[in-house]
Amino acid sequence: MRSASAAASRENKRIGIVPTMGYLHEGHLSLIEIAKLHCDIVVMTLFVNPTQFSPSEDFSVYPRSFADDSALAAHAGVNILFAPEAKEMYPADFDIYVCSEKFGTILEGSFRPAHFKGVLTIVAKLFHIVNPQIAVFGQKDYQQAFLIKKMTRDLDFDVEIVVVPIVREHDGLAMSSRNVYLSPTERTQARALSHSLKIAEKLIAEGERSATKIIATMKEHIIREQDARIDYIAITEPETLAPIEQLLPDTMALVVLAVHIGTTRLIDNILIHIKH
Ligand code: AMP
Repeated sequence: MRSASAAASRENKRIGIVPTMGYLHEGHLSLIEIAKLHCDIVVMTLFVNPTQFSPSEDFSVYPRSFADDSALAAHAGVNILFAPEAKEMYPADFDIYVCSEKFGTILEGSFRPAHFKGVLTIVAKLFHIVNPQIAVFGQKDYQQAFLIKKMTRDLDFDVEIVVVPIVREHDGLAMSSRNVYLSPTERTQARALSHSLKIAEKLIAEGERSATKIIATMKEHIIREQDARIDYIAITEPETLAPIEQLLPDTMALVVLAVHIGTTRLIDNILIHIKH
């Protein structure tokens, strides 16, 4: 990977990286499309990163399908697929990590304490190996993209971070490799996540400005589903992730949530412009 990257740099080619854990869907493919607009060589990385899963999470059962992924990636125009082995990325005496003191411990971080340490560490390593000028991430994982932007700034990575909108199924469910875990009845119930975000959008359009009230209405909607269990619903400033209590005119609000449907944990979010 290093020598391919060095060869591209010698030819003054711009390298774009699209980090993924594989089991590709249209959300991933949209990142590739955007990457192609910004660079000459698209490197997709495919690595189910063990350090971002806690021992109780789904690392061992996370869906994997290398043959399908490599065919989809090639068809989408990926120039290099980098799929290292865990033992290459994490030698036995691996000891140095990247972590966020503050923003990695809220929202997702309060339910998945070691998650962002694993994410930031693997992304830093991939940036060093691939040496890209740009990196493309999905808004689906808003806090992840937020932290990666912070990491590039705080640790002086010369990489431009591009964030791509959420790709959804026809009924609104955000595409995710984890959707495959859902049984048919859970799949129906999972629509409540995106529906609740639409409810927030509608309430705001109708003039509701109290975050507490909006969150309460969203909660009511979600817990009607018998297999739903909410980790959090929050309304925050997109630029700081600070909670908002009262929505103000001409600002942006991020409505973000994590909900278990049965044993599957799903996340989703929406950015809303408060007009007046
Ligand atoms: P993952 O393979 O789930 O780690 O995701 C790899 C990248 O794809 C991350 O930057 C995600 O935010 C992005 N991604 C995942 N699902 C979607 C989606 N539905 N729409 C847009 N981007 C997505």
